[in-house]
Amino acid sequence: MRTWAEINLDNLSHNVSMIRELSGGKEILGVIKANAYGMGAVEYARELAECGVKILGVACYEEACELRAAGIEEDILIFGCIPPESVGTAIEKKFHLTINSMEEIDFLERNNYYPKVHIKVDTGMGRVGFTSEMALEAIDYIRENDIADLQGIYTHLSVADDPTEDVYTLEQMEKFRTFEGFEGIKYIHILNSCGSIRFGGKTYSTHVRPGILLQGIVPYDTDLQEKFKYVFELKTRILYIKRLEDEAYISYGKSYRGNEGDVIVTLPVGYADGFNRKFSNGGSVMIKGHRCPVVGKVCMDMTMVKIPRELVSQVGVGTEVTLIGKDIAAKAEEIGTIPYEIMTGVGRRVSRCYIKGGKIVKVKSLVEVERRV
Ligand SMILES: *Cc1c(COP(=O)(O)O)cnc(C)c1O
Repeated sequence: MRTWAEINLDNLSHNVSMIRELSGGKEILGVIKANAYGMGAVEYARELAECGVKILGVACYEEACELRAAGIEEDILIFGCIPPESVGTAIEKKFHLTINSMEEIDFLERNNYYPKVHIKVDTGMGRVGFTSEMALEAIDYIRENDIADLQGIYTHLSVADDPTEDVYTLEQMEKFRTFEGFEGIKYIHILNSCGSIRFGGKTYSTHVRPGILLQGIVPYDTDLQEKFKYVFELKTRILYIKRLEDEAYISYGKSYRGNEGDVIVTLPVGYADGFNRKFSNGGSVMIKGHRCPVVGKVCMDMTMVKIPRELVSQVGVGTEVTLIGKDIAAKAEEIGTIPYEIMTGVGRRVSRCYIKGGKIVKVKSLVEVERRV
């Protein structure tokens, strides 16, 4: 394999238990939008279902369809707005739709659609949803006129990862308090990953809505990181090795000049695989426990790395390289982004290797080998 993502489903399952524990025993709505943050929505859905997760969240209609087509029977909530022409099929497929405005309710009524819905309340995210007051009116209207099957009410926190902004987060939760005790609603949910572990005891929601925490990444600085297990590592193998016979420029733009005697290896990974171009001259990878600096510009398909003197005798073509692992948060910070963007950026030609019971149980790649070991 050229470059691959190792995805540890045992660790995913561990993280589910840990979230349940730390959120005070709330149920989980597993967020697996964007192909489970790049790692494989279908595989995550199956594993989560095995862990007893009964409802999954995705961003859009297409993502929900992919899960149903793969035979996932759990409830699926679509966070985004759905195209009017797809509402009919969405109802057939039993998707839960998010309702953000009176216009959407009018649309359902006019067309005689009767979907399962969750009302979205905007308590401070500033993206989509009703104000608290309007949400109450919408709920009354839906109930009085029997417009839809009201399954859920939810809101989304915007700064739950930032302890210096807790006043804002508590205000958001306060605005939602009216809905917490609502009778006859199966799904009341507020808390994303950070919210689940920081505010689990402060709300009466039925479910928490973690995404990145399933991946074992705690997106703020805390000792709790130790309780979670990283699910994802991006790996490759050395493709080519050379010792410079003279000073030489490396890669596009001549931005790095190596010295005589330097050992430079080429890795079959580039920004098209999700190894960000901002790692050019400054990023690093791990080889046999040593940090090795990226030299020159990261290309679309290849990246050059300098091998430290003490490591030279231990590496050759085929030596395994960890591009991104437990250091994902630090790596993201280095290039001014967040782990979410690194994960969702992992390219489609990167093979996904799923580990379960300590063994590789499935490989998903463009070669279309579905290997069961
Ligand atoms: C992405 C998303 C989540 C999960 O966020 P994390 O920070 O990954 O836990 C939860 N709810 C909604 C509505 C989302 O869009």
